[in-house]
This record gives sequence, structure tokens and C-alpha cells, in this order.
Amino acid sequence: MTFIRHKVNSRVVQDLKKRSTIGIIFYIVLSIIVTCADGFYSRHLFASLVFFFSNLGICVFRLVHLVIARKMGEPYEIVNRGIFYVSVVITALVWGCMLAYVEILNNEHVTQLMMNVCICGLSAGGVVAFIPDRRLAILFNLAMLMPATTALLVNRLNPPLTIMICLFSVYLVLIAIRGNKEYWNALENEYLLEVKSEEMTRLSNTDALTGLSNRRHFNEVLEREWKRSGRNQSLLSLIILDIDYFKKINDTYGHQVGDEYLHKIAETLVAVFKRDSDIVARYGGEEFAVLLVDSDVEQAIHLAQTAIRSIAVITIDHQGQKVCTTISAGVNCRIPDHNTVSDSIILGADKALYAAKERGRNQVVFFG
Ligand code: GH3
Ligand code: MG
Ligand code: MG
Repeated sequence: MTFIRHKVNSRVVQDLKKRSTIGIIFYIVLSIIVTCADGFYSRHLFASLVFFFSNLGICVFRLVHLVIARKMGEPYEIVNRGIFYVSVVITALVWGCMLAYVEILNNEHVTQLMMNVCICGLSAGGVVAFIPDRRLAILFNLAMLMPATTALLVNRLNPPLTIMICLFSVYLVLIAIRGNKEYWNALENEYLLEVKSEEMTRLSNTDALTGLSNRRHFNEVLEREWKRSGRNQSLLSLIILDIDYFKKINDTYGHQVGDEYLHKIAETLVAVFKRDSDIVARYGGEEFAVLLVDSDVEQAIHLAQTAIRSIAVITIDHQGQKVCTTISAGVNCRIPDHNTVSDSIILGADKALYAAKERGRNQVVFFG
């Protein structure tokens, strides 16, 4: 769970930003309507200007910060997250203080009504926007609603409204807690599903016994690399390896020893073909295939020889006896063209492998 929380952290910040950006435009528009509609600004010019410009300032700052934070990227994420949180709370405080100021005025019923409507909408909207972070959602609502509650209490004004604001605030906090739980559950399920589906893909591409790519995955990669090499006109090399007299090992020592042997060979092949672009696969029962991208013919042959030499010295201890055998390899290298299909490189490597078996096994044959 901790791992998932860490992984989704930046996603949460992105969600918070996306959800709250639309609101910024509303803050600006609403501040104009509230101060102008009933001529409030003419009666309370200083308060209107302070409210309007502080609201405009923080909104513009938030919009600019969104762009800058995106450009600054991951290294400054913690700093930018802090700036984002503080600027959100300041926005709420600007509105909360304005509400507190308006509530204690006499004969400003229209503006009081408009401010109450705005605050209801904005604080409820804030809960929805900041649900990914419960603390931010709660802090936002407290910053919006508590200044007015305090002002009303201190001035002993309108007790029913004070109680209403308090109840509304509690209600929003509860919604924020509930919504936050649901948000995280949904997010965690989404990520668990992603992890599971990655695991399923990995398993469907992997051979269970050796841990190498299986034939299905190998064919997919071959098809892709065949096309890519065709486009780049670069050389593609395929090595097919087949264990010599493997049936005898199974018949003499049992299948478990045979399986152990297959496992050791897989490990050896991975150690020999260690470039990131090398694909080592279990192609069939005791056959392996290796695809080399952008390597020349000499390199492919040299690596195949290294592989058969390394495999020839593998031994397995079985009830005091040393079990060992060899492997044969066929190498085929091609620059794909439009007229040939990827099967042709397999046929070529197969032919070479057949020749290696014919010539006495434990050797590499190259088919050009
Ligand atoms: P060659 O040198 O001509 O390749 O002889 P070989 O005995 O290796 O070839 P053959 O095709 O006669 O036998 C292959 C054997 O590989 C038969 C089969 O039992 C064994 N085999 C295939 N898959 C597995 C596996 O997953 N585990 C084990 N233990 N053996 C396997
Ligand atoms: Mg075989
Ligand atoms: Mg064999």
C-alpha cells in the first residue's frame, strides 16, 4: 500500500491542479460581480479594491505558477506542491475575510446575500476539487468559513447564520473525508489493476521453467525487429541452439535433472548474450533462440561459440554423478528486405543447426 501511495503521489497533485484550475476563473468573475452588482464598490471602495486586487493577484499567481511548475518538473515537485497548497489557502482566506467584512456591515443585504451564495458555491466546489487531499479540502473550507463565523461571534450578530455556517462547514468536512476515502480506494484499485495487468503480460511472455522469453513473445519481437531492421537496412542475427542428446539425460537421470539442466543453460545464455537489445528465448522443448540486433556476422558467430563453450562445461551433480552434455548452434544473419518474411531467418538458422548436428554436434554453423 505504501508503494502505491508513493507511486500515485504525483498523480494526486496533477489531479488537484486539474480539478482546481477552472475555479480560478470563477473567483475572478465572481469578485467583479459581488463588488459591482449593487454598487458595493462605491460605498466601500477601499475594501472592494483590496478584495478585488488581492483576489486577482493570487488567481493570476496560481495560473502562472501552474505553467512554471509544469516546466520545472519533478526535481522541484515538493517546493511547487507547497506553493500550490499555500496559494489555495490564501485564495480561500481572501474570500473568507471578505465574507467576514461584509457580514458585519449594516444595510448591505444584497451584497451579503451574494457573498453567502458565492461562498456556499465556492466552498462546496472546493471540497470536490480538493478531495484528493483531505487536509487541503478541510483547510480550504475552514479558511473560507471560519473568518466570517469568528466575526459574527465576536460582534454577536445573526446567531442563526453563524450556526448555519458552522453546520455547513462540518457537513463539508464530513463530505471531504468520505470523498477522499472513495478517491483513494478508486485510485488504489486502478493501480493494483495496472500492476496485475503488467504482471499478466510478463507471465504470458515468459517461459515458466527457465524464466526466459517464451516462443510467443520471441515471435512478436522477431516480427518487430524484422520490420525495424528492414527500415534501417541493418543486420539482424538469429542463433538457434539445441541441446545435444538431451533425451538421453532425461532417460538416464529423470526429467527433474533435465529441467535443472535447462535452467542452467538459460542462465548461461543470459550471461553470454548480455546486451539490453539481445533477446534470449526458449524456443521449444530443448531449443533456444537468440536474436541479436545491429551486431555483425563475426560478433554473432563469436557469441554463439562462446555460448556453446560455456554450456559444454556445465555439470549437474546427481547422486554423486556429474551430468553434462553439449549444445549445437545454427547462425543466420540477414538484412531484411520487402520481399522476405521473418520466417526466412528462422529457416536459415534451422538449416545451419541441422548442419551442426550432422557434422557431429557441439559446434556452430553459420548459414549466410
Ligand atoms: P539431438 O542431439 O538430435 O537434438 O538429440 P536430442 O535427444 O536432444 O533430441 P530429441 O528431439 O530426440 O529429444 C529432445 C528431448 O528433450 C525429448 C524431451 O523429453 C526433452 N524435453 C523437451 N522439453 C523438456 C522439458 O521441458 N524438460 C525436460 N526435462 N525435457 C524436455
Ligand atoms: Mg530439438
Ligand atoms: Mg536436442
